[in-house]
Amino acid sequence: AKAHQRSGHAYFTRDMGVEIRERVRMMHALRGAFESERLFLVYQPQVDMRTKQAVGAEALLRWKTEEGKFVPPDQFIPIAEYSGLIVDIGEWVLRSACFELVHLRSLGHTNFQMAINVSQAQFSHPLFMQTLHRALQDTQAPPGCIELEITESMAMKDPELLIKTLHQIKQLGIRISIDDFGTGFSSLSHLQKLNVDKLKIDRAFVNEIDSATGNGSIAKMVVQLGQSLEMAIIAEGVETQTQTDTLLSFGCHLAQGYLYAKPMTRNDLYPWLENQKNK
Ligand code: C2E
Ligand code: CA
Ligand code: CA
Ligand code: CA
Repeated sequence: AKAHQRSGHAYFTRDMGVEIRERVRMMHALRGAFESERLFLVYQPQVDMRTKQAVGAEALLRWKTEEGKFVPPDQFIPIAEYSGLIVDIGEWVLRSACFELVHLRSLGHTNFQMAINVSQAQFSHPLFMQTLHRALQDTQAPPGCIELEITESMAMKDPELLIKTLHQIKQLGIRISIDDFGTGFSSLSHLQKLNVDKLKIDRAFVNEIDSATGNGSIAKMVVQLGQSLEMAIIAEGVETQTQTDTLLSFGCHLAQGYLYAKPMTRNDLYPWLENQKNK
């Protein structure tokens, strides 16, 4: 559906009306789900491909409807962002992931890193730093074990605010990684100014390693870029041994992907980690 623009007025095609109603319906359902605690987190382990040991996990949001259906985050996150709900939901994600981190540490996983996704709307919210501060205080989560994932497109919106906020976050001891790196076309000089700690190679570029359409040249370039800027690198969406071997040959050691583990509930994560230790 397309909105046509004419003399300053936007009018919508019939399709667009349907789309908007569907979005509004979903927004109400999402708010209801959040309030009745039908949102939950799953954790996808991140491993060192050389040892296959877990180094941490990324917290990923899930929505299970009353009918027992799962709504994919790619569908509801944009709606949460668009409606502003992401600010409250995001705070809940942050606090829940911090609590989980503390719990994992109490079980002896003391080097475990927790990666948490942060949206533009959260990040640019005037109370974001306060929210972050409070989450750390209330949960006693160690900032050095927390990593916030931001996207390249956020770097484009308001660079000055971003640089300032990133600086404040780093002063708390929290690390920053750029998610889906390579898809957002941010300039390289920009990247250097942002002073982030880690680049996350987008799944599309990992996929290219052993597909008919590519040889992993972009993944290789991202690894080299990260190395020259002294950033850590992690590959996302690693599904095959060939991808692992190739990434290792590029000098990328960290990975997150189905070859190692799918996102899992906390109840599954604990036994998975225990099992991992004995390997
Ligand atoms: P993302 O941050 O790029 O997360 C990685 C996505 O790739 C996850 O999908 C994960 O399940 C999937 N994935 C990981 N390894 C593999 C693999 O080997 N193969 C394949 N095919 N997929 C793999 P998921 O969980 O559906 O999340 C989708 C997106 O939703 C995330 O992309 C992120 O942008 C957003 N999202 C999820 N949770 C949150 C959250 O708490 N806050 C915000 N702001 N966004 C979130
Ligand atoms: Ca992410
Ligand atoms: Ca990603
Ligand atoms: Ca991605």
